[in-house]
Amino acid sequence: MPSDRTPHAFPQFSSPEEERLHRKQRLAAAFRLFGQFGFDEGVAGHITARDPELLDHFWVNPFAMNFKQIRVKDLILVNHHGEVVEGTWPVNAAAFVIHSQIHAARPDVIAAAHAHSVYGKTWSSLRRPLDPITQDACSFYGDHALFDDYTGVVLDLEEGKRLAHALGECKAAILSNHGLITVEHSVDEAAWWFITMERTCQAQLLAEAAGTPVLIDEEQAAKTAGQVGQHLSGWLSFQPLYDWIVAQQPDLLDE
Ligand SMILES: [Zn+2]
Repeated sequence: MPSDRTPHAFPQFSSPEEERLHRKQRLAAAFRLFGQFGFDEGVAGHITARDPELLDHFWVNPFAMNFKQIRVKDLILVNHHGEVVEGTWPVNAAAFVIHSQIHAARPDVIAAAHAHSVYGKTWSSLRRPLDPITQDACSFYGDHALFDDYTGVVLDLEEGKRLAHALGECKAAILSNHGLITVEHSVDEAAWWFITMERTCQAQLLAEAAGTPVLIDEEQAAKTAGQVGQHLSGWLSFQPLYDWIVAQQPDLLDE
């Protein structure tokens, strides 16, 4: 039977307004998914999307609004001074400090995701990079950093700068004794890398609790990273999740 649905295609935009709305829709959906996966912990966690016109501004979740209830119209726009210029809710100070410095240091980064998810923060206490123990883990092979320091809640711009420096050109970083952060060229990719990195931490914790996992050798890990860790893989992997959450919770698109 022919399907009434069409394959996913990478989006093209005819105006900044169209692109802005698309980013905000993906962002609201990413929050709903993070909530669905249980990545929320009180008021911790933030995902940002750079504005397509005001390049030093980003869209982010309202401080202390439940991820599971965020709609497109709830998202707030924050400028490079940390001021909310669209929306009525405050911004999480740590969200501004961390994300503003990453967006400033990495012009290629459109979106960044951070949350205090259970397996990510557990793994972060070991202060070790992830090993290539599975095909999925190879997405992060040679492409994640370790921020090997913990100095309290990140509220100082200098600390945000240090964190951005540690991230370097990678798609992700493990923040010691804190959690994970992922970045990419779209909200879709940043959200997907976060979801799969959290599960990669879970897989390695399980494997090491059960025994001594055998690592994929360097050559195969590098080859696999080139297959599963690319921008298109990350973007595409998010599409089924986006379709599902919008079908389940269409109010997330309310403008
Ligand atoms: Zn945090």
